[in-house]
Amino acid sequence: IGKPLGRGKFGNVYMAREKASGVVVALKVIFKKQIEKHNVLSQLKDEIEIQTRLRHPGVLRMYGYFHDEKRVYLVLELAPGGELFKRLQSEKRFGEAQTGKWVTQLASALQCVHANKVIHRDIKPENLLLDGNSELKIADFGWSTVAKDKRQTFCGTLDYLAPEMLTHGVYDFRVDVWALGILMYECLVGSPPFEVPDSVEETHKAIQEGPITYPPELSMGISSSAKDLIKKLLAKKPEDRPSLEEVLAHPFLAPHVSEA
Ligand code: AMP
Repeated sequence: IGKPLGRGKFGNVYMAREKASGVVVALKVIFKKQIEKHNVLSQLKDEIEIQTRLRHPGVLRMYGYFHDEKRVYLVLELAPGGELFKRLQSEKRFGEAQTGKWVTQLASALQCVHANKVIHRDIKPENLLLDGNSELKIADFGWSTVAKDKRQTFCGTLDYLAPEMLTHGVYDFRVDVWALGILMYECLVGSPPFEVPDSVEETHKAIQEGPITYPPELSMGISSSAKDLIKKLLAKKPEDRPSLEEVLAHPFLAPHVSEA
């Protein structure tokens, strides 16, 4: 076990090397006491089941797990580029080429996630890691769920919550398409579109009813093609949102699709 890579809610993540093969991985160490305390055992089991099953370049691989008396260890693909969230904090926002590349990689990874009947439900920059080539990986499946029919559990992060999760609470795969739109906006602008600082109520209202606006100083620099895709992804009614296939066929992403 080598240097710490980060601190999580339930334990820490370390760089590690498997002695026999020499393969370098990330080892996520979770304390069993914390799992008990927060009553998240079934969530953790789902996370392990889902992440070991999904195989896609845009989904962080989970190679396996083991445990001892006090801890559970998840053996994960190493993502040396760290969280997209931290990159966004240091660079403030990204250009259209970089954003297009990541949106393409995420849409393509979500196709695989959905094809496996999984809804991620918590797509946001904190849950996306970058590898050594800045390729994007969906990392955290802690909120994911195997879609049965329509879901009613309330989860996710405020700024990325889809309107249907706030109103009738019944939702499906299309909440991830909404979150892709929020992410694309946040990458280009530097903050999410419906954020009202210090007011949960006003943020909810903006998500449900608010128009998509751009800060005047940035608006001119964002292409009409990018704005068109964001508008489509952030359709208030889930039935008006494009499928991921349609997203990948959008002209804004065309330069990146063959690379993903
Ligand atoms: P988490 O418990 O998943 O929130 O992880 C805590 C921190 O560890 C994250 O913020 C990352 O910076 C880092 N981390 C988690 N997983 C990996 C990984 N597979 N590769 C590199 N860093 C990671």
